[in-house]
Amino acid sequence: SAKAIRRGEVVMFNRKMVEKATQHVEMLRELREAFDSGKLYLAYQPKFDIKTLDVVGLEALLRWENKHGVMVPPQRFIPLAEKSGLIVRMGEWVMENAIAELHKVRSSGWNDLKMGVNFSVAQLRHPEILDALRELIDRVQVDPNLVDLEITETIAMDDVKGNMEVLTRIKDIGFELSVDDFGTGFSSLSYLQKMPFDNLKVDQSFVQTSDTPSGRKIVEMIVNLGQTLGMNVIAEGVETREQLDLLRELGCQQVQGYLLAKPMSCDELTTWLASFKTQGITLDG
Ligand code: C2E
Ligand code: MG
Ligand code: MG
Ligand code: MG
Repeated sequence: SAKAIRRGEVVMFNRKMVEKATQHVEMLRELREAFDSGKLYLAYQPKFDIKTLDVVGLEALLRWENKHGVMVPPQRFIPLAEKSGLIVRMGEWVMENAIAELHKVRSSGWNDLKMGVNFSVAQLRHPEILDALRELIDRVQVDPNLVDLEITETIAMDDVKGNMEVLTRIKDIGFELSVDDFGTGFSSLSYLQKMPFDNLKVDQSFVQTSDTPSGRKIVEMIVNLGQTLGMNVIAEGVETREQLDLLRELGCQQVQGYLLAKPMSCDELTTWLASFKTQGITLDG
């Protein structure tokens, strides 16, 4: 009967939910184990000045290869780390390691480079975050101006008042701040104007649809918005020469993307920087 089918659906729905929850618990357990045994690592993706194509900075991106040798994308494990609170310790580890790499790179002749690290809402809202950040820059001896905290727009813009307060204090300590994945949230312009962001990162989805007339207009609008608010505008996910040329024409200041450089391990980065120093970037076409 219909009733039985309905009851069956409910049972299936529950079983799926349980399966999913079990998977998440298992994945979180593996993630914690991998993190505690030092198996996570960072990849670094360069950021470029759009006019000169000089490297101006790096972004640290977390990498996890699970015990079956499969790379688990951050989009899958970061939300789990956030929900469980693990992200707080993990984020601290990311900053420490990224800053150690920055020291290394800067002392090898790249003394203008800055380091971007992704910063999650659980870190932002942690009651002791300000002390933790002060303690960290003291411990690793870094000028906080060289460290750029990238915060996703959707996150930065909910609980605006609370976040604005913390962000302003983080800015006071001296960190640089970026609004990441810009255009995917629904920022109120008045709040965006009040938020102490230095950089606006145009979300890659807009860059990748900029070859249509309406897509181009959207990118143009976002770049202009960033300029109007006095922010440095950086485009993510640039994959083609056409996208690069358009962004340059629109007045975007910096770029990041596979066209110029992919995220790299420490060793790959060292090799890449050495070859970049002698040959610069060669673009096809
Ligand atoms: P995000 O901060 O916006 O980083 C950009 C993502 O785009 C990275 O993905 C990067 O590998 C990818 N990407 C760069 N250039 C291109 C391109 O030309 N084409 C395409 N298709 N993709 C490109 P990834 O490494 O998978 O990271 C995804 C997201 O995970 C990041 O987005 C960030 O939000 C989060 N994430 C990564 N590492 C961390 C971390 O240490 N802490 C936190 N809280 N989040 C992190
Ligand atoms: Mg980012
Ligand atoms: Mg992004
Ligand atoms: Mg993102």
